Amino acid sequence: MQRPYNFSAGPAAMPVEVLQQAAAEMLDWHGSGMSVMEMSHRGKEFMSIIETAEADLRELLAVPPNFRILFMQGGGLGENAIVPLNLSRGGVVDFVVTGSWSQKSFKEARKFCDPHLAASNEADCHTRLPAPGSWQLSPDAQYVHLCSNETIHGVELHELPDLKALGSNAPLVIDFSSHVASRTVDWRRVGLAFGGAQKNLGPAGVTLVVVREDLLGHALSICPSAFDYKTVADNGSMYNTPPTYGIYMAGLTFQWLKRQSEGNLRGIAAMEHRNMAKAELLYGFIDQSSFYVNKVATDCRSRMNVPFFLRDESRNEAFLAGAKAAGLLQLKGHKSVGGMRASLYNAMPLEGVQALVAYMRDFEQKLA
Ligand code: PMP
Repeated sequence: MQRPYNFSAGPAAMPVEVLQQAAAEMLDWHGSGMSVMEMSHRGKEFMSIIETAEADLRELLAVPPNFRILFMQGGGLGENAIVPLNLSRGGVVDFVVTGSWSQKSFKEARKFCDPHLAASNEADCHTRLPAPGSWQLSPDAQYVHLCSNETIHGVELHELPDLKALGSNAPLVIDFSSHVASRTVDWRRVGLAFGGAQKNLGPAGVTLVVVREDLLGHALSICPSAFDYKTVADNGSMYNTPPTYGIYMAGLTFQWLKRQSEGNLRGIAAMEHRNMAKAELLYGFIDQSSFYVNKVATDCRSRMNVPFFLRDESRNEAFLAGAKAAGLLQLKGHKSVGGMRASLYNAMPLEGVQALVAYMRDFEQKLA
């Protein structure tokens, strides 16, 4: 079945195979006589679903044994409060602000700790990343917060910083909501990573947290029990009822990811390879054109979210209407930035980007 290509920034397109499997299992999961939505989270059926999902994710992302995987709720914005509640001890926390999402994290943290702005690219309109060597890291920071892919501005960190080499002993916290599972993660450089599922992992409603064990057990006394990482970890993400259907869908997505290959590459490495090819195709086309423009510095352009503009913005509506008619959906840019944005998450095949580039070329030629 040929569906339109959906470039939504999130909730985003999911692999067709995953949706088909979910549809086939909707009324009767594996002969249980129940939909996954109707199962007790403590029954053996759902227990097997969540355990398999966790093991598959650990394998896919090569999560080391001293990290815990938590399936929570509250989304990325929830984590903006939950992380400082758990890790800040009410002290100083360094923030590297690289776009709207890290800006929100910085502001929210004021409720719980003493956030310090270590670096910001606001003066550059979030189009280039401040060099790690220029970050003003605090000697007493409890952690350093970074958004490793800024979804709105299309700015991605292609190498996580080595905080030790920058003179900081603090753990690194990354918001990897919009590029989780699109590339490998260097866990040696990470203390905690969080992300909402609704871009690369499954439907909205599940929040993934991957946290190093030594960071558990330091929550402020005001931290709600359901958001205390240690409580969640001790209860296998089942202190309260977890978002069962979302975890099931994420689990199907993990199985889909495990099946992906590109030459000798498997799983996430295969996805990373594919994602690089997709991004290169689109940026390459934009850069050679005098009709379209992307304003992000080339060394930090996001592979997942590509904001671009028509030089003649009076054509925006015609561009979007034509795209929709050509089966290319949800290309409108975020309201704070304007223009267009193509999100190229894992479920977007290369053919989708080829179709987008063909449409863009056609649109440009018609107006030439
Ligand atoms: N961080 C990033 C990088 C995001 O892209 C988003 C959502 N687009 C959020 C945080 C907020 O996530 P949620 O809406 O799940 O709270």
